[in-house]
Amino acid sequence: MAILIFILGLLFGSFYLVVGLRLPKGEDALFSRSHCDNCQHVLKWYNLIPIFSFIGQKGKCPYCHEKISPLNIIVELATGFLFTLGYLMYGFSYEFYLYLIVVSLMILIFITDFIYLIILDSPLIIGTILVIILKYIYLGLMPALTSLLNGILLFFVMYLIQFLGSKLFKKESLGGGDVKFAFLIGLILDFPLGLVTLILSTFLALPYSIATLYMTKNHEVPYGPFLVGALFIVIVFLDKFKALLLVLFP
Ligand SMILES: [Zn+2]
Repeated sequence: MAILIFILGLLFGSFYLVVGLRLPKGEDALFSRSHCDNCQHVLKWYNLIPIFSFIGQKGKCPYCHEKISPLNIIVELATGFLFTLGYLMYGFSYEFYLYLIVVSLMILIFITDFIYLIILDSPLIIGTILVIILKYIYLGLMPALTSLLNGILLFFVMYLIQFLGSKLFKKESLGGGDVKFAFLIGLILDFPLGLVTLILSTFLALPYSIATLYMTKNHEVPYGPFLVGALFIVIVFLDKFKALLLVLFP
């Protein structure tokens, strides 16, 4: 079963790559045929098998022999490993499905925010729908609705931070995608742990922000990867964070 989940993870990773790299450029990710970005040659199905095609073609396009970015294989393998890790930790359970949604968001936001400095709306919308359905099935209607309110609350907290930040620094400090993503974090974790996630994300972002400040002229830092990275950490160590919350606010 773990091997099956790993293969499923590879396929999902491959799909997230296509979505994450093409949608921000306005290209059709779902219905257009996959093609080489260099020579535009349409690829055959056997050129698109995760890992095996990459190894078989020695990391090059079979038509123009342009090198394929190692990002492809890194994303596929990372998704495969993270999916399997979740199955080994949780088995088939509510926690596992919630974890899969978080991992999927993480992969997509890492791709789009680091490369294009945006968070796509579609993964946030699909993630929201899936989390509400999951909470409704496993926890019931009231907890699902309560989580929805928690999401809205965290959205407004993030909106306030963005508003004050732009007043203070006289420029856009957070992207709109970060504020929308805060809603989903609140929906997944509820308000108190959502707030903990926001705080944790600032600590994760700090070293990267300082490094960019000194090493590059462009000071625009993607914030989404640190938000979703913090969400991932809190989800994996959920019991520890819940215990911490009880210590802080008995
Ligand atoms: Zn090519």
